[in-house]
Amino acid sequence: MKNDKPLVGVSRCLLGDAVRYDGRSKSNTIVLEKLSQLFEFIPVCPEIEAGLSVPRPPVQLTGSIKNPKLIGRDNPAIDVTNIMQRYCNTRPAELDHLSGFIFKSRSPSCGLNSTPVFINKVCVTETSRGLFAKSLCEKHPDLVVIEDTELEDKNLLEKFIQLISVSHQGNSD
Ligand code: SF4
Repeated sequence: MKNDKPLVGVSRCLLGDAVRYDGRSKSNTIVLEKLSQLFEFIPVCPEIEAGLSVPRPPVQLTGSIKNPKLIGRDNPAIDVTNIMQRYCNTRPAELDHLSGFIFKSRSPSCGLNSTPVFINKVCVTETSRGLFAKSLCEKHPDLVVIEDTELEDKNLLEKFIQLISVSHQGNSD
């Protein structure tokens, strides 16, 4: 059945769900008050869906910019790389009905172009991509994507809305 509104995935914490590592949310007003009127949201929290708990030890991208691991921020003995990689090997294929995705910036799972990577405890970049965001974008290169910080730029926001509309029309044809 044809959807009236475009289906858009969103990092679940942006919707106000308390799924972050610290048991809190990251409610985004633009998502909740403006975009919710235009899109039907499909909430996705990769870390929860992969099987991690709330709260959970914070993790960060570590060891390599090209092929980083997901290692505990405070406890480097924690390594959830394989758990997340297994999830990323399957979940993106199930999201082929989306017109777009709104990611939470800086997250080691969800960040789009803003995630820090650490090598020997030193931050070597702050423009990397979280493991889930990377997998989803590789699986669906035409997906219209944005991260929460970019929503504050009116031009980027309008462009995102327009591109979603075009994608949705294409999907409905
Ligand atoms: S940033 Fe992504 S992984 Fe982290 S709490 Fe939000 S939805 Fe979950």
